[in-house]
Amino acid sequence: MAPPDPILGVSEAFKADNHELKLNLGVGAYRTEELQPYVLNVVKKADQLLLEKGENREYLPIEGLAAFNKVTAELLLGADNPVIKQQKVATVQGLSGTGSLRLAAALIERYFPGAQVLISSPTWGNHKNIFNDARVPWSEYRYYDPKTVGLDFEGMISDIKAAPEGSFILLHGCAHNPTGIDPTPEQWEKIADVIQEKNHIPFFDIAYQGFASGSLDADASSVRMFVARGMEVVAAQSYSKNLGLYAERIGAINVVCSSPDAAARVKSQLKRIARPMYSNPPVHGARIVANVVGDPTLFKEWNEEMEMMAGRIKNCDNMTNKWHVYMTKDGRISLAGLSLAKCEYLADAIIDSYH
Ligand code: PMP
Repeated sequence: MAPPDPILGVSEAFKADNHELKLNLGVGAYRTEELQPYVLNVVKKADQLLLEKGENREYLPIEGLAAFNKVTAELLLGADNPVIKQQKVATVQGLSGTGSLRLAAALIERYFPGAQVLISSPTWGNHKNIFNDARVPWSEYRYYDPKTVGLDFEGMISDIKAAPEGSFILLHGCAHNPTGIDPTPEQWEKIADVIQEKNHIPFFDIAYQGFASGSLDADASSVRMFVARGMEVVAAQSYSKNLGLYAERIGAINVVCSSPDAAARVKSQLKRIARPMYSNPPVHGARIVANVVGDPTLFKEWNEEMEMMAGRIKNCDNMTNKWHVYMTKDGRISLAGLSLAKCEYLADAIIDSYH
């Protein structure tokens, strides 16, 4: 018998519980005030449009929906990014963030034998699974410093420096999971310096674009800065959170290459890996994203809805500034740091910050 998954296993246990006061704080999924899953208005509108158009259910090509691949790379890198115009980006639609990371892991295993991936300590629980499953060796770099409840920047830099030349450095593009701590723009520059010096390859996992700051562009600035330096960059995207498309399994893997020829070859290899794994990706989520991002009115509405969602998450600032409760910005708290006597104080702070 395999053990239950540490995150999704909690959701299964939650479903099985019939108590009326139950509350699931395990999985990273947005909820309304009524604790219901939130379907974005723009997603409902795009769904309606698709229904009216009566789209068919033919197979997509292995690399996914062309209109989706175009807009997803533009959303990540900025529509005017020269690397897009120069056709240096290999974009393949993936099965959301997880499936996209898994494709990239398979690419590393096949074409960079022995190369290590460095992941942050701590990180999202599934990262280790993904690289283990793909038989890619990984080790950790220091990231969280419990003493400052902040980034262990010196530790991070020295661990990246110490990694064998040509390692893949897995970076959370924004809204680091689980700490909620992101490097400052100056720190990102220094991280890029070290990665460049060591001929490492930056490998971004960007699962929360728009959720950290409320702005899609601001949240992609880390990735864009690396690309602007002329570096080759791998970036996995997810629309589970920022468009609430969890179950549609829609995301992408992007590889920014040094030439259009290299991009074409990388894309062909990604397709070769995808074909025996799942043949081709699902279409519905891809059409929703292509419609929302590709339509200026819907795109504007999406940005507004995202700001609203990010607003509730950002209320954590109030917890610290007004109530002096120190916690990570993604809203996660360590119950190990809470005493019985402080419970009521914490409850008051939460009510004040979130109402
Ligand atoms: N990366 C990180 C850091 C995440 O937190 C998540 C979702 N929890 C994912 C990737 C992937 O999620 P999905 O496969 O639903 O896109």
